Amino acid sequence: MQTPNSDNPLQYVRGVGPRKAEAFASLGLHTVGQLLEYFPFRYETHLGDVEIADLQPGMNATIRGEVLHLHRSGPHMSAEISDGSGECMLRWFNQPYAGRGLRIGATVVATGKVEVFHNDLQIVQPSLRVFESDAELRAPQPGERQYGVYSGNAAIKSNTIRRVVLNLLDAPQLPVAEFLPARLLSAHRMPPREQAIRQMHAPDNDKSLESARRRLAYEEFFLLETAMAIRRRKLLSVQVGIRLHATKEIDARIRARFPFPLTAAQDKVIREIVRDVTSGRPMTRLLQGDVGSGKTVVALYACLLAVAAGRQTAIMAPTEILAAQHLANIERYLEGSRVRRTLLRGGIAAGRRTEALRQIEAGEIDLVVGTQALLEQDVSFKALALAVVDEQHKFGVMQRAGIRTKGALPHYLVMTATPIPRTLAMTVFGDLDVSIVDASPPGRGRITTRVVVGRQWATVMNYVRGRLEAGEQAYVVCPTIGEDVSPLPENAAGQRNAATRPQKAAELRSVRETYQQLVDGPWKGLPIGLLHGGLKSDEKQRAIREFAEGKLRAVVATTVVEVGVDVPNATIMVVEHAERFGLSQLHQLRGRVGRGARDSLCVLIARGSTPQLGGAPRGKAGERLAVLAETTDGFRIAEADLRQRGPGELLGTRQHGLPELRIGRLVEDFDLLEAARRDAFELVAADPALRKPEHAVLIPHLKRMFGDKLALIDAG
Ligand code: ADP
Ligand code: MG
Repeated sequence: MQTPNSDNPLQYVRGVGPRKAEAFASLGLHTVGQLLEYFPFRYETHLGDVEIADLQPGMNATIRGEVLHLHRSGPHMSAEISDGSGECMLRWFNQPYAGRGLRIGATVVATGKVEVFHNDLQIVQPSLRVFESDAELRAPQPGERQYGVYSGNAAIKSNTIRRVVLNLLDAPQLPVAEFLPARLLSAHRMPPREQAIRQMHAPDNDKSLESARRRLAYEEFFLLETAMAIRRRKLLSVQVGIRLHATKEIDARIRARFPFPLTAAQDKVIREIVRDVTSGRPMTRLLQGDVGSGKTVVALYACLLAVAAGRQTAIMAPTEILAAQHLANIERYLEGSRVRRTLLRGGIAAGRRTEALRQIEAGEIDLVVGTQALLEQDVSFKALALAVVDEQHKFGVMQRAGIRTKGALPHYLVMTATPIPRTLAMTVFGDLDVSIVDASPPGRGRITTRVVVGRQWATVMNYVRGRLEAGEQAYVVCPTIGEDVSPLPENAAGQRNAATRPQKAAELRSVRETYQQLVDGPWKGLPIGLLHGGLKSDEKQRAIREFAEGKLRAVVATTVVEVGVDVPNATIMVVEHAERFGLSQLHQLRGRVGRGARDSLCVLIARGSTPQLGGAPRGKAGERLAVLAETTDGFRIAEADLRQRGPGELLGTRQHGLPELRIGRLVEDFDLLEAARRDAFELVAADPALRKPEHAVLIPHLKRMFGDKLALIDAG
C-alpha cells in the first residue's frame, strides 16, 4: 500500500467510501492524520472496566458480574447480575437466541449503554461473553493481542474505526513526522513518533503500549510547557511594570489596619509580593491557600501598598455576593482610613454607575471592588497599579488578561481558594509565580467530619437543634433549589454545574423541601433562612446579613455559600446528598465552618446511588466522602480530586483557554511533566524565538494545540 499523505481525505482510504467518510466526519475526523491521532480510549480485555456502583445512566460500560436471576418470557429474556458493588439488569427483547449459555452463577462480561428503568440499572441488548467461573475469567492470557476500543457514535462504531485504522497501519510508513528534538528523545529513551502511534492503536504488549503512551504524553506536556516558557519569558523580559515603594513606615501603617498580627505564612507571602511589586517588572503571581488561611488580608496588604503610592487598585470577584462581601470585609479594616473605595457591579443604577466610572477615571477612587462588570469597555482607570482577581477558578484566562489591559501593565495577583496540586498549578498556571499561605491563623477550632446515611436525617437534625439552641449557627446545603425554579444546582458563579446535575431532580432533596421539613419538624420555632440563586440580589444579601448578625440560627442554601461567605460563628455544616458533590466542592463547603475559635461539625449526608436501599454510597462517591472524613488538608483533597476526576473537571480546563490533555495524566505522569517542563524552559532560554530548524518544527504543533487564543508564539 502506498504511503498516504496526512492531509489525505479519509474518503480515499481503503475501507472508507463517501458514506463512511461522512460518519467519520461526525466525529471530527476528516483526514488520515486526524484518524491516526484518534486513539483508543481503552483496550479490549476480558474484564469489566467499571463497578456497577459507579454506573451512570447514559454511559457505555463493560461490567463483569455473576448471574443472580434469569427470566425468560417468550422471545424476551432478562438476567440480573451483581459484582458485589451493586446489581444491574441485562435485557434482550425479541431475541429468542440471546443470552444462550447463561445460567445462574455464571460470570458474564456485558457491554452496552446503561439506562435506568423503574429505579433499576439496566443494559438493553448488551454484547455478552459468558464464563463458567470467576477463576477462568481472571486467568492471565499471556501474549494475547489487545485491540483498541474507540469512542464512536450512532453513525460509526468502534469496530469500524478499528478496521480502518488497521488498514492504515498496513502501510510500511505512516505520514507522521517527528518533531521532538532528537537529543530529548534519546535522553528519555522514547520511541519515535511513528512507532508510538502504531503502538497506541495496535500494541504488541503492555510494555510497548505504555512506552508509546508516555512518549505521547511527554510530547503533549512538552508543547504545553514550551508555550508556558515563551509566555513567561515575554512577561519577564518585554514588559515594564509599575515600581512601587515599600518603606518601614508604610509597612507599619498597613499592619496597624489589622486587629491581629499577621501569621508567619502571611508574612512570607507578603515578602514575595513586595519583592515583585518593587522590582520594576509586572507581578504575575498566583496566591494559593486553603479556605480561611488569610489570603484576603494578604491581598489587601498589597492593595494598600499601591494606594500608598498614590495609585489605584481593583479587586475582582466571581459573584456579586462575594464582591459585596469582600468590600464589607475590607471596610472592617479600613474604618477611618482615607482610602476611597467603591463597589462596581452589574445592575446598579445608570446614574450611580456613570458617577462611579467618572470617579475611577479621574482617580478619585483608590480601591474598586467588583465583578466582571470591572471588565466592561467603559471602565477605565486613571492609574491602576494592582489588579487582584479572586479567582476561585471561575474566570478564564481571557478575562484575567482583560483586567490587565486596564492601564499600563498593572501588577496582577490571582487568589485561588481551592488549593491546586503542584502538578496542576505547573500546567495551568505554569507561567505564573506561585505563593502559598500554608498555615491558618491560630486559635481556630477543630472540624469533625461525619458521614451519615439518609435515614439518620432526623437524628442529625435533632442533635443540631440542641447546638443551635446553645448559640451555634448552621448551614444546610442542598444540591437543588426545588420545584418551581430550575432544578439544576447553581455554583457561586451562577453557572449551572453539570457535575452535580441531578438525574432525576424529583428524587433529590431540594432547598425548599428541606427548609419546609426543618421548620415543620426538628427545627420548628427556630429562625431559619433560605439562600439560593433563584433569589434577587438584595434578598440574598439580606439573608447573609441576618445570618452574619446571628438573627438567623441557620440557612438552608444551595452551593451559593460554597465560596467566600464568612460567618465565624457558624460552626455546623450539613450537606445533603453529599455523594452528589465533588471533593473540592465539599472541601469548600466545609471551609465555611471552623473559622472561629469553637470546634465545628461537618455532617455529610449520603443518600447512595440506590436510595431505596438507604445504604451509604459505594464506589467513587464513597471514596470521596472517606477522603473528607479523613483529612482537612486542602492540598491532599485537591490531589485526590485530580486523581478521581481529572483536571478538566477540577478546573474547567477549557474555561482557562488551555488545551485539553488527551494523553498525559497529571498525577500519574508527574515525572514526565517535570521533565518536559525542564526541557522546555531550557530550550526556550537557549532559543527564545524557536529559530533553529530543529525547534522551528515545533511552531505548527504549538499553533495547532493552542490555536490563536493565547497569541503565544509571536514572541519573535
Ligand atoms: P481567605 O481569603 O484565605 O479565605 P481571609 O483572609 O478571608 O481568608 O481570612 C479568614 C478569616 O481569618 C477572616 O475572618 C480574617 O479576619 C481572619 N484572619 C486573617 N488573618 C488573620 C491573622 N493573621 N490572625 C487572625 N485572624 C486572621
Ligand atoms: Mg476569602
